[in-house]
Amino acid sequence: MISNSMRPRVNGSSAIRRMFEEGKKLAAVYGPENVYDFSLGNPNVPAPDELKDAMIHILETEDPLKLHGYMSNAGFEETRQAIAEDLNSRYGTSYSAANVVMTAGAGAAMNITMKSLLDPGDEVVVFAPYFLEYNNYIANFGAVPVMVSPDPESGFMPNIAEMVSRITPKTRAVIVNNPNNPTGAVYPAEVITRLADALRSKQEELGTVIYIISDEPYRELVYGEAKVPHIPDFYDNTVVCYSYSKSLSLPGERIGYVLVPSRSDGWEEFALSLATANRFLGIVNAPSLQQLAIARCTELRSNVGFYEKNGRDLYEGLTAMGFSCIKPDGAFYLWVKSPIDDDAAFCDELKDERVLATPGSAFMGPGYFRLSYCVSHETVVNSMPGFRKVAERYFG
Ligand code: PLP
Repeated sequence: MISNSMRPRVNGSSAIRRMFEEGKKLAAVYGPENVYDFSLGNPNVPAPDELKDAMIHILETEDPLKLHGYMSNAGFEETRQAIAEDLNSRYGTSYSAANVVMTAGAGAAMNITMKSLLDPGDEVVVFAPYFLEYNNYIANFGAVPVMVSPDPESGFMPNIAEMVSRITPKTRAVIVNNPNNPTGAVYPAEVITRLADALRSKQEELGTVIYIISDEPYRELVYGEAKVPHIPDFYDNTVVCYSYSKSLSLPGERIGYVLVPSRSDGWEEFALSLATANRFLGIVNAPSLQQLAIARCTELRSNVGFYEKNGRDLYEGLTAMGFSCIKPDGAFYLWVKSPIDDDAAFCDELKDERVLATPGSAFMGPGYFRLSYCVSHETVVNSMPGFRKVAERYFG
């Protein structure tokens, strides 16, 4: 029998995954080409060839005892140093391997971060709508999420005034996810400046240390003029959780890292704690082949133009039909207002046209739905009649 704490979490698990399963059933009946599945954030741009070549080269030339053996829980020094230097060249910082702990993707990065930060009863502030898995990560350590409500008027920027009102002496961290899943919004420097100023004031007022956990798996997926601010430049007590799942299309490989800048409170002990948490949580270390490949490929980027085109075409197509959408500046998500309050019922209407979307309620953003457009361009084009048929009922 499973634990009492786990049972409700298992039963309530992931509307996104459920929709994905529905999609597989529909595909079996109608054929995959007739199902327009915008449910899951599984990148469909293949990982760059250079990465594959690097892996083959490593497999052929690396000492197998190094390649397949245990290592430091923080990961290979050469990988951590290569990442530090890549960040330094981009942000003008002076990070070294000591500031980087390799781990198994952003999910593990957040879990080892929270393991290091949270005691039972501590609070973590999250801005809705948000990636609901955060609730599970926070609950893993007996802490509680404290939600700041969505702010549609600002284009779903973080509501800083409400954040301030939600901070208590128990607040240990605020999660910032930029570019954002599910809205596709990118928070500009001006927003991060205000957020950092407000948190600094709260730290002073309460005499506590409040971290920003900057969850950045979509950092490189930005369009046009949009820029993702490097939050440690704005706020000292920042840890960055990064993943190659989206930026290099490697979600199955489980590779990412945590950056603990030297200006953050107690950073050396924090970095040591992250590595130790890797071990305690059974991650032990990030996959070694992936680490060695990343060390040789820090400058590689995914085909952002592909996502940008999908996002633009979907945005323009749906807007022309009467839908109200947030224009995405990054990631690969379109956040659309449901024409009826019941976003789940609306997604069912779309499903009848074999268009799979995720209800906003699955992200604590009711009244909206999310389209994950890391799909083929044909899927975007061929889904339009289904959207149009449903739109005509509401917008004429
Ligand atoms: N954070 C956000 C906002 C995400 O959207 C995801 C995955 O979809 C993750 C974290 C987890 O990413 P990873 O696959 O690297 O664990």
